[in-house]
Order: sequence, then structure tokens, then C-alpha cells
Amino acid sequence: MSERKEDAAGIGGWRLMHTYTDLPPLFYTDVAPTPVREPRLVAFNRPLAAELGLEPAALERGDGPAIFAGNALPDGARPIAQAYAGHQYGHFTALGDGRAILLGEQVAPGGARFDIQLKGSGQTRFSRRGDGRAALGPMLREYLISEAMYALGIPTTRSLAVTTTGEAVYREQPQQGAVLTRVAASHIRVGTVQWAAAHEDRAAVRALADYTLARHYPDLARVPEPYLALFEAILARQASLVARWQLVGFVHGVMNTDNMALSGETIDYGPCAFMDAYDPATVFSSIDAHGRYAYGNQPGIAHWNLARLAEAMLPLFDADGDRAVARATAVLDRFPALFEERWLDGMRAKLGLVTEEPGDRQLADDLLAWMLRRSADFTNTFRALAAGVRPAQSASPDPELDAWHDRLDLRRARDGRSPAEARALMRRHNPAFIPRNHKVEAALAAAGDRDDWSELTRLLDVVTAPYDHDRDLPEFSAPGEPDPRYRTFCGT
Ligand code: AMP
Ligand code: MG
Repeated sequence: MSERKEDAAGIGGWRLMHTYTDLPPLFYTDVAPTPVREPRLVAFNRPLAAELGLEPAALERGDGPAIFAGNALPDGARPIAQAYAGHQYGHFTALGDGRAILLGEQVAPGGARFDIQLKGSGQTRFSRRGDGRAALGPMLREYLISEAMYALGIPTTRSLAVTTTGEAVYREQPQQGAVLTRVAASHIRVGTVQWAAAHEDRAAVRALADYTLARHYPDLARVPEPYLALFEAILARQASLVARWQLVGFVHGVMNTDNMALSGETIDYGPCAFMDAYDPATVFSSIDAHGRYAYGNQPGIAHWNLARLAEAMLPLFDADGDRAVARATAVLDRFPALFEERWLDGMRAKLGLVTEEPGDRQLADDLLAWMLRRSADFTNTFRALAAGVRPAQSASPDPELDAWHDRLDLRRARDGRSPAEARALMRRHNPAFIPRNHKVEAALAAAGDRDDWSELTRLLDVVTAPYDHDRDLPEFSAPGEPDPRYRTFCGT
């Protein structure tokens, strides 16, 4: 990987480098953001800016808003749109950044490298029939949910800024245009590998694999079979990531292969939302008519997407086609067990357990089955457990849950932890606050329709401290009125 060495930071603290452009030209195209009428910075993530080595105060004034809207380029930027393909709802398509532009890779003070990408920044070669733009609501949703996920400790891209553009975008109705500044470990997707493979360009597939190894899995570059090891490591990160989603009730909503990052970060917040009442069939996305990306399907879809990745990488595994398939399959077949292991580890922590017993899966399943029967709130059921509230003592006693709790108590006794230790463990693994759909909608409406940012600010404050169980904020912890018709939109 070539790089400029320790250049002095530019105005605002920008220290942008460019390694992605060392890849073959197949993978990107040079394109500048399209300026907008009237940039206005409406959300800015100061702590993240500081972590990136940027100067928050300088960026909130001066050139900052213009940079985050695409009207000015930061020092050292080389704007590009990345090319990729992807299976969308099972169908293979050529895609690419149709409304996003990568400015470069910011090198943070600790040396870590982060893609700085504008989303909604105008048309590119990959826009197809799209306008290259984004509406304010979906960009604020991404900002809010990605920062909530980060605070939950789940690997994710992050959000540095949202600007409004002073221009309308036309979806069902005219909406305010906006640009989101996204920060990511990288934007290499399953679909990026598929793009190279679809061009039957083995050298490009290999170059991308080498790049991914160097950037995200440097320890594997020197093992005997680095490409198989790379596939295995990506698979392990995905198993762990989707387990984390399941454990907090996060529904991504559009797990197309172009929305799965090889870094293992959650990426592309579109119609995502958190589940209230536990139900594996939970779907929010307005376009997911058949529930392909329902909550309970997410592990299986991740597995399916990884099979598509394996296909794209096949020539790297073995020169002989049959042997390559056999090797890929052997790795792929490990996914279900690996997911199960990650999920069960997390579930034990949610139940305050440290040791492992064969009956743990059943114990967890029986609680989930109870939640499903009672339409119990996923987050608040665990929160009550973490608070040590016996169902029998609660406002609405439930003998069934009480019997389950007796089993948990027996299991806890064998675990050997003190009640205080168990509770501390549970408080670290069960969020007290998630972004509740009704609060998200209300905050986005207040900001978008009335230019009132107070609700969004308050919601961000709550969901970025999700494990603060000492805060008693019923307004933020109560689920909204159950609404089976509640739908989220990609906003594309
Ligand atoms: P997504 O559903 O957000 O993952 O986007 C899928 C593809 O559609 C990507 O290639 C996007 O760049 C592209 N896309 C989404 N919205 C737009 C838009 N408004 N204009 C151009 N391209 C878009
Ligand atoms: Mg996408």
C-alpha cells in the first residue's frame, strides 16, 4: 500500500490519504461532488471529529459546512465514486456509488485510517436513473441509528455531519435535500468483489483481496493460504456482527450483498429499525414485501451473502475449480455453528451467566418463546431481568415467566456469581435505551418539518448512553403503540 508519509494536517485537521486509488481503475471513477445551493450544517459529531484528528471548532465555521455539503473540498481530497455490484433481493445487478463520493482516507492521530464519504453529493457514472441526492429524513436516521449502534458497542460506520442543501429532492413528495458525511473503516463490500469477478478479471479480484488483507486483516497476509484465511476471517466477523444485531433487536432491512462490508462493520442504514415486541417475523422495510430481510432471517441471509462472496473469490482458493469449491464450502459450512456460538455467548451475558452449560440454549429459547406468545418487549424484558425484578413482584405477575425465572435462579446458583456481579454483567449487555421507532419518527419530523432540533438532540443524548440503567426516562424506554403497519423507507 503506497502512502504519503506524515504530511502536515491541512486547515481543519484534514490529513487525507489515498490508497483505494492504487487499485486497478476498474474499481472507481474520479468525480467531484455537485455543489448545492445553500449548505447548512444541521448535525455535527464533535467527539468523532476530535477522534479523527479534525478540529471541531474550525469545521463548524468557515469552510466546514461547504465541505460537508460538497461545495468545497478539504485539503488533500481526491473525490472518487467506488464501483461495485450486488445481489439486491437475490438478483445480481451492477451498482456503484450513485449518490456517494469518497473524499479520501483520514488518518487519525492513532494511525487508524477512515474513509470520509459524502452521501447525497450528486450524480456519478453509477447513478443510473437516480438523482444522486438524499433527503434529510433518511440522512438524519442514519446519523442517529449509526451513532446508537456505535454506543451499543456494535461495529458500525459512523456519522460525522449532516448538512441541508437548500434544494428540494423529489421522492413521493418534495423533501429537503441533505448530505451525510459517513466515516467507515472502508467501503469495501461483498459486492465490490462481485464487481471484479463479474468482469472475469482475476487480477482485479486478487488485487482487491490483497488490498483488503492489508487494510483489515494484516495478520493474515503471511499465512500459508491468505485468501482462504481472509474469507474465513470475513465470515467470522459477519457471524459476530449479525449475532450482535440479534442480541439488541436490530433489523438492518436491506441486507443486499452491496450492503455488507468486508471490514465487519454495519453499513448502509436505510430502512433499518429496532424491534419492540419480540417476533422473528419483524419487518419494517416498505419494499420488503416477502420478509426476506426479517429479523429472524438475518443470520441465514448473512450466510447466503457469504456464499456469494465465496463464489466471487473462488479462483483465489485453488487453481482447480472443484477443489476451490470444496475448500470454500468447508469454510462456509462453519457459519451456522459460529453464529450460534457468538449468539449464545451474548445471550448468556444478557442472562448474567458466565459459565457454559448444555441447557443454556433451551433456557434462552424458552424465554424467547414466552416473549413471542406475550408480545413482550424485547429490550424491556431483558432490562427488567437486569434490574433483578422478579416477575411475581411486578405490576403484572405472570406465573409462566415466574417459573422460567426459577430455572434461571437455579442456573445462576451453579454459575457461582454473586447477584451483584450478575447484575453488573447484565447491565453491560442489555441496553436500557434503544432508538424507539416512535421517538425516531417524532424527532425526524420535528427537525424536518418544523426546524426544531431539540427532540433529535435529546434522543441522541439518550441513545448514545444506552447502558445507563440509572436513568429513569419512561418516555424513551416505552415502546410506541404497537403498529403492525409501521414501515420504514430507504429514501433512495
Ligand atoms: P442502497 O439501496 O442505498 O444500498 O443503494 C443501492 C444503489 O442505488 C447504490 O448503487 C446507490 O448508489 C444507488 N442509489 C440509491 N439512491 C440513489 C439516488 N438517489 N441517486 C443515484 N443512485 C442512488
Ligand atoms: Mg447500499
